[in-house]
Amino acid sequence: MIKNLKYLRIIDPDPTSLILEKIKIAENFFYDWKEYFLKDKKFLNDLYEYYKAIQDSNILMEKLGTFEECYYCSAIEKGGCCKAGFENEVTINILLINLFLNVKIPKEREIAERCFFVGSTGCKIFARPTLCREYFCNRLLRLFSPEEYVSLTQTISRELTLLYLIERYIRKELEFLLGDFLLEIDLKGYR
Ligand code: SF4
Ligand code: SF4
Repeated sequence: MIKNLKYLRIIDPDPTSLILEKIKIAENFFYDWKEYFLKDKKFLNDLYEYYKAIQDSNILMEKLGTFEECYYCSAIEKGGCCKAGFENEVTINILLINLFLNVKIPKEREIAERCFFVGSTGCKIFARPTLCREYFCNRLLRLFSPEEYVSLTQTISRELTLLYLIERYIRKELEFLLGDFLLEIDLKGYR
């Protein structure tokens, strides 16, 4: 168990330091355990299905105009819901999933006082937390017909169900490998 103490750190409450520290911890887990996880065919298949489900959600949201609306709201009007601190909805577990999906994780806050992961054209992290995927403000809701809204929530539900299953599996395996002190991997860490 002593070797596992390397994952324990004192976490700085500043939001930028906090998310950078979480990224570092996720990278350590990935480096140490990726071969163990990648041997599991079901895990690989779930990751593949999840990747496709995110793409399906993105295609539909693009078609329905949500990305464009959010772009105007946050980049042009400097408003919107992707505020500083919200990056901590992205847990170590979700960061680890992004590493398993082999997608890039941003390493600096591009826009001051906005979420660490928001850039000039929107969110820059591929696998996103539930809150970011299922939240539709009134401005967005006005874009959809009831039928389109049903289709959107069904598509996103599939993505989020897969996210839940993958997160649960990773957490269970890490607890088995390293001990249940790893409950912290799901903490949000807001100030
Ligand atoms: S979800 Fe609504 S409030 Fe948030 S960025 Fe998009 S349009 Fe703006
Ligand atoms: S959608 Fe992306 S940019 Fe917006 S709060 Fe979530 S992680 Fe941050």
